[in-house]
This record gives sequence, C-alpha cells and structure tokens, in this order.
Amino acid sequence: MLLPGGTIGILGGGQLGRMTAMAAARLGYRTHVFAAEHDAPAAQVASAATIAPFGDAAAIARFAAAVDVATFEFENIPGAAVRRVAAKRPVSPRPEILEITQDRLREKNFLREIGVATTDYHEITDPDALAEAARKLGVPAVLKTVRLGYDGKGQVLITADTRPDGAWRQMGGTLGILEGFVDFRCEISVVLARGADGAVAVYPPVENRHVNHILDTTIAPARLPAEILAEAEAVARQIAERLDLVGVLAVEMFVTKSGALLVNELAPRPHNSGHWTIDACMTSQFEQLVRAICGLPLGSTERHADAVMNNLIGRDVERWREALDDPQAKLHLYGKNRVRPGRKMGHITRLLPRS
Ligand code: AMP
Repeated sequence: MLLPGGTIGILGGGQLGRMTAMAAARLGYRTHVFAAEHDAPAAQVASAATIAPFGDAAAIARFAAAVDVATFEFENIPGAAVRRVAAKRPVSPRPEILEITQDRLREKNFLREIGVATTDYHEITDPDALAEAARKLGVPAVLKTVRLGYDGKGQVLITADTRPDGAWRQMGGTLGILEGFVDFRCEISVVLARGADGAVAVYPPVENRHVNHILDTTIAPARLPAEILAEAEAVARQIAERLDLVGVLAVEMFVTKSGALLVNELAPRPHNSGHWTIDACMTSQFEQLVRAICGLPLGSTERHADAVMNNLIGRDVERWREALDDPQAKLHLYGKNRVRPGRKMGHITRLLPRS
C-alpha cells in the first residue's frame, strides 16, 4: 500500500492527468507528471513534472526514480516507455493492458476470445483486403486505423461509392480494421474501478452523444431498461476481471435497435464519460484511480444527483461564463492556452434531482 505522502507518477499531461493529480492531492499524495509539452494541463497542478519526449529513456529513468507507483492517462503512450517505468516501479494498470487497448485489432480479438460481442470486423492490410472485407461485411462500414486513432481520427466511412485505394490512403495507409456500421439506438459507457484485491466499484451506465466523432454530451444515468443496464455492468465487470485490471476502466458500447450490446472500445483509464462523477458521486473516477493504484479501499460510487455533462470543445470554451450564472452547473477548465478546433478545453456538469 502506498500511504498518503507518497508520490504517484502520471504518464501523460492532459486533462485526465490533471484531474487525477487534483484527486491525489486531496488525499495527501504528491504527483509527478511526465509530459511531452511544457505547460501541460496536468503539469500545471502536479507537485513535479518531467517534460521530455516519451522516447527519452534517460528522462523516463529519472521519472521512475522519483515516483513510488505510476499510472498513465492516455492510450497512445509508447508501450516501451511504460515498460521502462514498470521495470523499476509498480505500474497500474499493468502495461499489457495498455498494449491491448492501444491496438484496435488486439482489443477486438481479446473481446472475441472472452466471448464479449462486438460488431463484425476484418483486419485490413491493403486496398485489396479492404475491397474484399467490404464485400463480406456489406456497406456502410467503418475503416479505422489499428493504432493511434481516437476521437474519430483515422476513420473513414466506406459506402458503395468508395474507392478502396482512396479510402486506404485517407485512413493513413497503415494497418487498419474494417468494422460493420452499427445503426445504433444509442451509445453508452460503463466506468468502473477495480482494486488489487479484486474488489470492483461500478458507476451506472451513462448515455453518450457524439458530434463529429467527439464526445459532446453525457447523460447520467442512461435512460434504458433495467435489463440492458444490468447487462452492460456485467459485461464491463467481466472485461475488467479478465484483464486483471487494477485501476479504472471505461467500456464504450453500442446499444442496437433490438437492445443488444456491442462493445466498441476500452479505455484503461479515467474517461470523459466519467467526468460527471466528480460533482455527482461520493467518489469520483479520479479518486477511484488513486485509491486503486495506491492499494486503498475503493470508495462508494453512490450518486447524490443525476447529471448532464457537456464538453467545451474548441471555441465552445468562450461560453464558460454562462456556466457560472447557472446555480446547478459546475465549470471545469483544463488550463489549455491555445484553442484548436476539436480540442477538449473544459466541461460543464449540470446536476439534476436524482431519479
Ligand atoms: P471510436 O474512435 O471507435 O470511439 O469512434 C468514435 C465514434 O464514431 C463512436 O463513438 C461512434 O459514434 C462512431 N462509430 C465508431 N465506430 C462505429 C461503427 N462501427 N458503427 C457506427 N458508428 C461508429
């Protein structure tokens, strides 16, 4: 167990690291952030920071020497950097989990192996394989890069008119995956925490609305029949157990028109669709991560309110003042100086009476 006063290392400097560092500070821990850029949102609120590329082995060694345990706050940290830290200090979730979830093909193969339903998919190695897979799956279908894709980056919709070589180039011309297009009723996610002792604490499934492939709104809890919600929780628990996760996991799922669940993506870290837990639950997803990786008991996931969370994306952030005039709204800004289209700048959580 790492007692309060110890130092938690966080690989990655974004808003998820920032909110983790804030939760850690509240429990009396110090944090040390490893970020690639100066003035990273997480580094602004951490006790210490190492600013260097993830490929800088000497900087990674200095970081590892300065922390007691470590975690990561986004998927695209090179596996080698995480393994270098893990050779010296406990890293949770374990690096193998990161490596599964940063590769869409490995992730879906893992889900298939453990009997969790996903949309049908095929590995795509070149434009001919794409044409063949599109024939098998039918169109529309979604072509995605296997690695380094998020928020819709590296995704191409394949229709009857699509030219395979053009789509392949547009996707990035690397290893891809073609997925059957899901004409879903809604998208949901389940965020949970799992401790080293195997204890699991699950938040209620929430409904997620995306705009331009980026999460725009989370409605907590999801307004769906109890059987679907119970199944979603059971699927998420099963995945966390089979991964032997210690930390926080988000499971994104499609709910089909017939009420079936198809898992789309896993994130072994706090998730945008769990931000509402900061203001509406006894224990936030960030505090759960701190508790899990330090070996403390997990907290209660009980919610004292329902919530609607809206991301402030790009220039939306200019509307931040409106939130301050609303007595039910909580404003969160991430300290990012430069506004870019599609960049997550902050979020607003509005609390509603508990259903
Ligand atoms: P992802 O990067 O896989 O999380 O995809 C981002 C968003 O694109 C998802 O949340 C969905 O809204 C949409 N999307 C991704 N894959 C599919 C699919 N196979 N069928 C329908 N919509 C999808």
